[in-house]
Amino acid sequence: MKSPQLLLSEEACRDLSQCPVLNLSLIVPVYNEEDTVDIFVDRVSLMFADASDLQLELIFVNDGSCDDTLTRLLSRQRQDGRIRIVDLARHFGKESALSAGLDAATGRVLVPIDVDLQDPPELIFEMITHWRQGFDVVIARRSHRGSDSWTKRQSATWFYRIHNWIAEPKLPENAGDFRLMDRMVVDALGDLPESRRFMKGLFAWVGFRTTFIDYVRPPRISGTSKFNGWRLWNLALEGLTSFSTAPLRIWTYLGGVVAVASLLYGAFIAMQVLVHGVDLPGYASVFVAVTFLGGLQLIGIGIVGEYLGRAYLESKRRPCYLVRRIYDSGG
Ligand code: UDP
Ligand code: MG
Repeated sequence: MKSPQLLLSEEACRDLSQCPVLNLSLIVPVYNEEDTVDIFVDRVSLMFADASDLQLELIFVNDGSCDDTLTRLLSRQRQDGRIRIVDLARHFGKESALSAGLDAATGRVLVPIDVDLQDPPELIFEMITHWRQGFDVVIARRSHRGSDSWTKRQSATWFYRIHNWIAEPKLPENAGDFRLMDRMVVDALGDLPESRRFMKGLFAWVGFRTTFIDYVRPPRISGTSKFNGWRLWNLALEGLTSFSTAPLRIWTYLGGVVAVASLLYGAFIAMQVLVHGVDLPGYASVFVAVTFLGGLQLIGIGIVGEYLGRAYLESKRRPCYLVRRIYDSGG
């Protein structure tokens, strides 16, 4: 717990007159991005060239790329001392790469940003203005998803709809990882013990004073998206199972409803036989009921399995990433 004096001086740091230079860390996860690294560094360097009130730190997290991404990064680092490279031991996925970058960053404010320029770096100035006004988190929200494919738009809409219906806390719609966060928000994230990290959910869980700025997401500058349908589906499952137990609990209620309905139906059949002496109908209804209930049970077991699998992996307490080496400029 920080002392009130320290918190006060941290607040004063938002005031331009009291704290003229702001330490800003950009966290850039990269996975097979040899074509985009240079374009990104050029654009960011140009943008911050005149920003004398900002001390920039560019943290690239190499997420086990198998192309020339690391070589490109190292060559850029020789020309630009603000670049630090966290080279992960293998491919861990974007969520882990982001965690690695946030852990390594030293800035007072931190911004995770994609290397493909789909998160326009120009917005960072506006984010800083909001931060100076007292917000701890400034989220860039896509005003529309025109640059995404139809399938990606639909799946995103349905994911947010279902997630926000059954899970707490709610995720802000159309908000990705591109956001400015105060150091205390990132420290709070670092204190969360789980090793399977669904970052959008964790960002929402820690909360803090939050505001939004809207932007139109441009298409990728080069290369292709690293998230295909299967990976998006798994990310959605991770999000739902990390922040909601509703899919587990629903089976209790569904089981109750089916049990009561079958009791009533059983009573109805008994009445028919006793009162009217009607013959029992054929096997078709029994067949349908057995297969339907069998299917339901398998789905139920599958969902329990999803949670059990995650609890099993979490119980191993493995770190969510391993660093092979950190390349500091000159080091
Ligand atoms: N990325 C990563 N690891 C992965 C997938 C992606 O570090 O397993 C990085 C990627 O290099 C890029 C950012 O995460 O900087 C966003 O990836 P992408 O553009 O493929 O995602 P999309 O914009 O399609 O959601
Ligand atoms: Mg992208």
